[in-house]
Amino acid sequence: MELWYTEEHTENVRFGIKVKEYLYTGQSDFQRIDVFESYEFGRVLTLDGLMMVNEKDEFIYHDMITHVAMATNPNIKKVLVIGGGDGGTVREISRYSSVEQIDMVEIDELVVKSAIEHLQFTASKLDDERVNLYFEDGVKFVEGKERVYDLIIVDSTDPIGPGEGLFTTEFYQNCYNVLTDKGILVNQNESPYYDQNAKELVRANKKIKSIFPISEVYQYHMPTYPSGHWLFGFASKELHPIKDFDAKRWNSLGLKTKYYNTDIHLGAFALPNYVKEMIQND
Ligand code: SAM
Repeated sequence: MELWYTEEHTENVRFGIKVKEYLYTGQSDFQRIDVFESYEFGRVLTLDGLMMVNEKDEFIYHDMITHVAMATNPNIKKVLVIGGGDGGTVREISRYSSVEQIDMVEIDELVVKSAIEHLQFTASKLDDERVNLYFEDGVKFVEGKERVYDLIIVDSTDPIGPGEGLFTTEFYQNCYNVLTDKGILVNQNESPYYDQNAKELVRANKKIKSIFPISEVYQYHMPTYPSGHWLFGFASKELHPIKDFDAKRWNSLGLKTKYYNTDIHLGAFALPNYVKEMIQND
């Protein structure tokens, strides 16, 4: 009998993946966690039935959530990752020997445990000596702190359930406060294509723009996420991702990446008109 995993991208659009073997199912205080082996995408992690990470396209997401900011400011020493339980973002950050401290604040310890056991392709660097793991709510973690981190990466789920608080004005303001003067905030900023995701994109972008002097969005192709066209937010106090970007400097690091390069860095900020209009008119 064939087994298929199906995700509703909209009420009228479904995305199906043929399952080879189910490996794990667990229920935490926050969400349902599933890990399965698939024919096309290798191992897959879903939370509450929604695609989070898979072996075949995770490199795209983790390259783009990490290297754009790291290439904009080569002096990033202290990094805060909020969410990111699969470990892929920490894996990419840990490739920079210049980084001294990586604090990862993941609300759900069971996600991290599942990743360490079943997703070593993303979880391989969670035991790096620079990594401090906190199993706490990221919304609370940034409250009352001032000028600690050079980079905050919000590698979150969608703005539903535990992830909702990570898309609020108060959270973005606390992120602003906890960043140093050249601090950068990168956040999972949804997608412009389907209405529901586009609404969340516009809402989040409007809030971030009201707090940070520099606020841009950049795009990446994510085959297994709804519509495949997804965006990250780039917000900062001083550094601009294009004007302050030095391609020669990043290329001199000699980091080998499967998706990111210094041309994609520039191209990712060249948005289609309908997206420009969407975020300009918000
Ligand atoms: N790439 C995925 C995406 O775009 O949907 C995100 C991957 S990562 C697994 C998302 C993580 O955010 C989950 O492990 C979830 O538990 C965590 N998370 C959600 N809300 C959180 C919160 N308020 N504080 C900390 N972590 C949170």
